Amino acid sequence: MWFDTDKCFIAGSWVKPVLGQVLALENPSDGKKICDIARGTSADIDLAVAAANNALAGEWGSMPAFERGRILTKIGQLALEKTDELAELEAKDVGKPLKQARADAIAMARYMEFYGGAADKVMGETIPYLDGYTVYTMREPHGVTGHIVPWNYPMQIIGRSIGAALAMGNAAVLKPAEEACLTALAFADLAHQAGLPKGVLNVVPGLGEEAGAALSAHNGVNHISFTGSVGVGALVQSAAAQNIVPVTLELGGKSPQIVFDDANLDAALPFLINAGVQNGGQTCSAGSRVLVQAGVYDKLLAKMKARYEELVVGDAQKDLDIGPLISARQKSIVKGFLEQIEGDAHVVARGKISPDAPKGGHYVEPVLIAGVDASHVLAQSEIFGPVQVVIRFETEEEAIKIANGTEYGLVAGVWSSDGSRQMRLAKAIRAGQVFINNYGAGGGVELPFGGVGKSGHGREKGFDALYGFSVLKTVAAYHG
Ligand code: NAD
Repeated sequence: MWFDTDKCFIAGSWVKPVLGQVLALENPSDGKKICDIARGTSADIDLAVAAANNALAGEWGSMPAFERGRILTKIGQLALEKTDELAELEAKDVGKPLKQARADAIAMARYMEFYGGAADKVMGETIPYLDGYTVYTMREPHGVTGHIVPWNYPMQIIGRSIGAALAMGNAAVLKPAEEACLTALAFADLAHQAGLPKGVLNVVPGLGEEAGAALSAHNGVNHISFTGSVGVGALVQSAAAQNIVPVTLELGGKSPQIVFDDANLDAALPFLINAGVQNGGQTCSAGSRVLVQAGVYDKLLAKMKARYEELVVGDAQKDLDIGPLISARQKSIVKGFLEQIEGDAHVVARGKISPDAPKGGHYVEPVLIAGVDASHVLAQSEIFGPVQVVIRFETEEEAIKIANGTEYGLVAGVWSSDGSRQMRLAKAIRAGQVFINNYGAGGGVELPFGGVGKSGHGREKGFDALYGFSVLKTVAAYHG
């Protein structure tokens, strides 16, 4: 690897963690150790926050926005040049098939280009006010931003979160997940090569309850962006609340894909399945509930069954449909859900695990389940594995009720050829994003993303993320 894997990146240098401890990083495709990574603790977080503050007090704090943007764009260009190496790292670390890992590397580069271009386009307003006053607003950085990232899409989440924060002139401390942090370290190296001043980006790998908890409770941090589980999101938000620090939470989901009788089933089919099994179903916006209207239920279920039976799971490097799950723990969580199939619920189809999948890997067959009651745990909980439930409905009203009937609200897909229905559903569904006759819109770097309910609050991606990473100041000048 072209960077130090067992160190933190602080103030522009690779440094050993203060306590000198390391953690073993595992390859989920074979269960073998890849390398050691640093086990950062609160002492390293202190150093990283101090470095970020120094950066703000130095060149970075007064750098024109277009120059910040130029550096971000350069990071994006370097990431594009290294697409293959980054994809190899992510495939090995996360267990995602190489094709998906390549797409994630390109998405990371795209985020840096987007936010590089946007850096000098965030403007304030002038506000008509009382006679004798000129009033205007300015958007300023929060200062030091903390970024706590999960293991499922490290490159994409780093790109969207760090890209927007740095474009606004913040200085960042990034705590990647202990299960997968190689591309976070690679990203730090690319940022350094691109000329990002020392301390503007600091990366402290480590355990959530150590480095993550220290970052969320740090009184030198001015904003926290957290992507991960609901339980940890609540911990992060309450730790930040002690310092009255704003938090963006991007949490989980149980997103519906709703198929009406008038939908184009053949166009829908690949989306319906991919949205459930991509990244082994370990996707916050997975379309894990497929709601199907009665008139096409049998036909669509037969099509889904046929496709499921073709799905093959195996080593990420083999670039099959699905890779392993991230860990033995995640596999046992998914298996635990599958043991709860009961009543009318039944397995319609399973994919296959490739016979040459390494024995130590964390493989689970994709499973399609039908006959599940909308209130059952399988239709309510985020499983985070390649498991989809199919739920039958009769009317549009019923579909809306089921779609909105979980504690989450991240994204939703609607398949129908009726334009009025599409608009009604887009309005009625409680979610941060609604996709009509597609799912995911190809990733959507430009499209604001985030949830309602237990899916979180605040928006990342697109221009709105820049507002989230800034503070609005109002200036009222009296001149008579
Ligand atoms: P997680 O909450 O266990 O971990 C996420 C991050 O939080 C990791 O870096 C971890 O080290 C850190 N962490 C753990 N305990 C902490 C603590 N006490 N204080 C501070 N930080 C701590 O989540 P996970 O299992 O890694 O990821 C899966 C979850 O993330 C799923 O629920 C998924 O839906 C969600 N997710 C959401 C999005 C989104 O954009 N909405 C994207 C990806 C994943």
